[in-house]
Amino acid sequence: PDSQSRSAALFDRARAVQPGANTRHMITFAPYVIYAERGNGCRVTDVDGNVYIDWVNNFSTNIHGYGYPPIVEAIKAQAERMLCCILPTEAEIALSEIIVERWPGIDQVRFTNSGTEAVMVAVKAARAITGRSKIAKTEGGYHGQFDLVEASFLPTPANWGPEDRPAAPPLGHGTPQSLLDEAVIVPFNAVDATLARLEEEKDALAAVIIDPIPARLGFAPASQAYLTALRRFCTENGIVLIFDEVFCGRAGYHGAQGRLGVLPDLTALGKIIGGGLPIGAVGGTKEAMAIFDNLAGPLKMSHSGTFTGNPMSMVAGIAAMRGLTPEVFARLEAQGESLRRGLMERMAAFGLDMRANGLASMTSLQFFSEPADNYREFHNRSGDAYLDRMRRLHRDMLNEGLLMATRGLMVGSTAMTDADIDETLARAEIALQAFAQREAA
Ligand code: PMP
Repeated sequence: PDSQSRSAALFDRARAVQPGANTRHMITFAPYVIYAERGNGCRVTDVDGNVYIDWVNNFSTNIHGYGYPPIVEAIKAQAERMLCCILPTEAEIALSEIIVERWPGIDQVRFTNSGTEAVMVAVKAARAITGRSKIAKTEGGYHGQFDLVEASFLPTPANWGPEDRPAAPPLGHGTPQSLLDEAVIVPFNAVDATLARLEEEKDALAAVIIDPIPARLGFAPASQAYLTALRRFCTENGIVLIFDEVFCGRAGYHGAQGRLGVLPDLTALGKIIGGGLPIGAVGGTKEAMAIFDNLAGPLKMSHSGTFTGNPMSMVAGIAAMRGLTPEVFARLEAQGESLRRGLMERMAAFGLDMRANGLASMTSLQFFSEPADNYREFHNRSGDAYLDRMRRLHRDMLNEGLLMATRGLMVGSTAMTDADIDETLARAEIALQAFAQREAA
């Protein structure tokens, strides 16, 4: 940190007009946030001229890094034609076709402006389909920022309740209890406890929503047994199974569902499908998506939005997705594995009881060495000092020119070469050593 830096000055200036000097709580850090000037490939330059290898990629949206020519050209050309219009464009169909071709559980799709909105629309659709109101979600899961699905996001021992019957603590102060009563929280990856809880609520349940590879669990995937049990239970009881693939949609060419081999009724997408511009989407089976079909008769729900399907996001998304062939996904995955392996070797060398967990291009740094596959285990093993330690590690990485998310998330981009992975590991080695020395002191 340098109190004379331009970032520090901008941070001060922001404080006057933005509470907390930010517009996204998830990205802020102390003593001041670094302000970005420009990006180039996998590197971002801040307003003081410092260059970082970007391992956040805007929470994974920039899967091609910065300045990927097909996206830049598509956006330029579209900006000259039109930014947005009351009439739909062909680009909306083309991006739909790409999504339908790739995600095996998606026959039809509709766009939204963010992942939050995609989940919200999926939840509303499930309610309209079933005529029921309750939504089951897995403990600790993040599904965007509307209050129902914020229940049990980052719960603590003080409010999480019994293990086999988790409570639904609100994230926001003042969340209506009536709303929380609509949330049924189930323990991630615990088949029997989850089925018992769902069984009690089945007549009131519209949907079960799960992020099958949750970032907040360090990308520990839901087990095959767990997903299969959810799939069977939902089918038998007329409950809509929703996968939130807003983040983990980057798990492979056929998304997380293609990789894990279990298909939901509805899928929420976002991030990479917009190529760096704002986007979200809800896709699903023809049967589930029929709820949106205004040509088939009177509607049971409505879905619209001034910017939904805006052609700028559509053309950027098309360019991004076309650049993501199966071969490109394989390379991203190989680089992700090299990163994890290299980080683990260095963690071990410095005597750190840490882990680089994850799969494909998604990596999470953790303060324990055996993988954790449910929220409580993750929380307990991370320890009380988790946030403080993560802040120090984040700072040490920044000082070595590595930008990761404040909770130790690292996601790759196609702009990275193998040399960039090597450089990352060389820099991380210095950062981890500094971190280990401070931990030992
Ligand atoms: N679901 C998941 C799993 C996410 O990771 C996110 C974003 N981090 C969202 C939903 C919300 O998406 P957005 O930020 O685009 O609203």
